[in-house]
Amino acid sequence: MGELEHKFEVKIDTTENKQKLPDNVKAELKETGMMDEKGKLKLKGVSPKMLKKMKQEFVQCPVLKEEIQFVQCFICPNFQSRVMGKVLCKGDPLK
Ligand code: SF4
Repeated sequence: MGELEHKFEVKIDTTENKQKLPDNVKAELKETGMMDEKGKLKLKGVSPKMLKKMKQEFVQCPVLKEEIQFVQCFICPNFQSRVMGKVLCKGDPLK
């Protein structure tokens, strides 16, 4: 199989700081059942250990042109996969 078609390879960085998800992202996660009422994330196929790590990660999104948490990137329609510390991103415009 050939490589997935993607426009950007976005480096994943780590921070020690506590990151907060924006309210609109939280609302979206809740709507789609990926977050419970208490604000606990429930991502399919992601272990609690992985999730803990993910919460410390962020990317400089080339589409939104801002720093966003990896969790948000992970659920983005442009997200294709994560390979060796990078996100393969489709790069389509987001609403
Ligand atoms: S997948 Fe989405 S959030 Fe992640 S870098 Fe690409 S456009 Fe930005």
